[in-house]
Amino acid sequence: MIKIKNKEEIEIMRRAGQVVAKTLDMVAEIDLEGMTTAELDRLIEEYIRSQGAVPGFKGYQGFPASACISIDEEVVHGIPGRRVIKTGEIVSVDVGSIVDGFYGDSARTYPVGEVSEAKAQLMIWTKKSLMAGVDKARDGNKLGIVSSTIQQVAESRGYGVVRCLVGHGVGRQLHEEPQVPNFGFPDDGPILKTGMVIAIEPMINMGTENVKTMPDGWTEVTADGQPSAHFEHTIVITDSDPIILTVA
Ligand code: MG
Ligand code: MG
Repeated sequence: MIKIKNKEEIEIMRRAGQVVAKTLDMVAEIDLEGMTTAELDRLIEEYIRSQGAVPGFKGYQGFPASACISIDEEVVHGIPGRRVIKTGEIVSVDVGSIVDGFYGDSARTYPVGEVSEAKAQLMIWTKKSLMAGVDKARDGNKLGIVSSTIQQVAESRGYGVVRCLVGHGVGRQLHEEPQVPNFGFPDDGPILKTGMVIAIEPMINMGTENVKTMPDGWTEVTADGQPSAHFEHTIVITDSDPIILTVA
């Protein structure tokens, strides 16, 4: 069942969203080159806790860290570790927080130093696809309008839209109903209603849409080894414009 949040719940979720937004703003200020993903994860965990929140991903279904950090061909769910971040790479950082029992969830992809024009365009269009989808997340619209809009924007550039990983409802659980695919038909899915909170998160590949899971059981990589980008916002459906909870 899709939960409708009341005003008080949305106010708490706004605070959870602010924590992840400020965390991702903090990451944007760091010179990532030469840092290991484990070092970046430690800074992220410290920052989340300094805001009086709990890292939402740590221990979630056994995930060992506070952020998912996924470089280049890694799509999502990269486990922070010894990999050293290099100039020219694009780094997806996905962060969750818990405030008073409610989750915030957001992701951004960052360029490290000078990146290729192709990678820069991939990031630009992944973000554009997210924002185009957010704009369609309105009371009375079918969820499929959001999904199909994201797909159209990404595929108009010839990119691969990941199928097997999707966005989701958010609340007291990190993953609630409904699933929010980044592809589909405008008539698909439930009708969106005021008070629904969803995380929209296109994962867009430069090449094939196909992904595979690495032996660590978490890290998803593109099947063809080409780069992938990921942007995510947690938003609230209202009776007018959607409200993005995960911007500072
Ligand atoms: Mg996320
Ligand atoms: Mg998510």
